[in-house]
Amino acid sequence: MTNATGCPAAPATTDPCSRCDVLLGLPGVQVEAVEREADLLAVTVSTPWRLMGCPDCGVVAASRGRRMRRLHDVPHAGARVELLWRQRLWRCPDPGCPRGMFSEQVPGLVAARGSVTTRAIGWAIDQLRREHATISGLGRQLGIAWKTAWRAIRPELERLDADESRFAGVTSLGVDEHIWHHGDPRRKGPKELTGMVDLTRDEKGRLHARLLDLVPGRSKKAYADWLTGRGEVFRSGIQIAALDPFGGYKSAIDDELADAVAVLDAFHVVKLGTQAVDEVRRRVQQDTTGHRGRKGDPLYGIQRLLRAGAENLTDKQLNRLAAAIEADPAHEAVYIAWRCAQDLRAAYQARDTTHGRALAEKILATFHTCPIPEIARLGRTLRKWREAFLAYFTTGRANNGGTEAVNGIVELARRLARGYRNRDNYRLRMLLAAGGLTP
Ligand SMILES: [Zn+2]
Repeated sequence: MTNATGCPAAPATTDPCSRCDVLLGLPGVQVEAVEREADLLAVTVSTPWRLMGCPDCGVVAASRGRRMRRLHDVPHAGARVELLWRQRLWRCPDPGCPRGMFSEQVPGLVAARGSVTTRAIGWAIDQLRREHATISGLGRQLGIAWKTAWRAIRPELERLDADESRFAGVTSLGVDEHIWHHGDPRRKGPKELTGMVDLTRDEKGRLHARLLDLVPGRSKKAYADWLTGRGEVFRSGIQIAALDPFGGYKSAIDDELADAVAVLDAFHVVKLGTQAVDEVRRRVQQDTTGHRGRKGDPLYGIQRLLRAGAENLTDKQLNRLAAAIEADPAHEAVYIAWRCAQDLRAAYQARDTTHGRALAEKILATFHTCPIPEIARLGRTLRKWREAFLAYFTTGRANNGGTEAVNGIVELARRLARGYRNRDNYRLRMLLAAGGLTP
């Protein structure tokens, strides 16, 4: 198409022509030829000649010709793109210089020993971050193996991870755990990971929850050690510490974040309510039929309805619920448990926090005396966490929805990859997908 001397649009200098810049989008790199066959676009590129000094001694280097480097670039218009880079080779003429031969380096094009272009790595990371891409899918589009793709991407993620500025400005911090594998803990380590979530709101009051880190285990130590590692400036900046009702995290917060207000995460409290209903349903099912729920059993038919918020149920669904409850007097307990769980939801959904707090106070005053043991236990748990439970209503719904959103992203990313073998890779990928590697 064009070259350093022959392009009709090129100015009379050795700079690459502007047409090449537009076409390729890589300043300083010019297109020599383009060939397309089926689904492959092969673009031969080079840089214009310029005076080259030895990187060690600065003596003007002698040209030693070129070598062809095959680089995988961002796909274009349905085709894979290969850049065939005619890389310049040089030699230092000074016999006393240790350098000898050296090759041209264009960091904007590709890393020193890379086979994937710099911009293709950036593109791939964006695809992982925003478009739910998978490494194998990206490898396919770039024409490389999974291993090659991950080897190119991973160092860039590690660089983003090592940048401590991603922890700056956090004032509201959540902690949560999830199971990352179901394999053998002797080989893969603990099944649980403790995750730290940034729940800080922006100046407009919006919450963009970010998963800041994942560490192995679910313990006071796991969280406390992480907090210690962040340093005094980070810790003293935390005003609100959200958590699920787990004593280990609470005592880590008490030790490391003495000035922060501990708040029970709304998502986890609502989940406790839903779990209590589930337990009552299973117990009543067993007591009345002598077997686990199966198709045709009234309680089995409504198990999903019982997990939803009443405000989201249609009239038809409410009728189905009523019919299942009326099928047996023993089902009354399921209904009462469901109502209690709905009351808990209502406290969080109340339009103003004063009203929400009043509902929460009523729950604290009544649930623990409920004749249904599962609800009474929930009541005792909430009373034990009284202060942190009520703090939600005095901190302006500090943590609403953030942990849940991050959990959803982690869940999706894990499914897309169909499981992970390596915990470090898992951690980097989850941090990337859930916003933790965005400064
Ligand atoms: Zn030299």
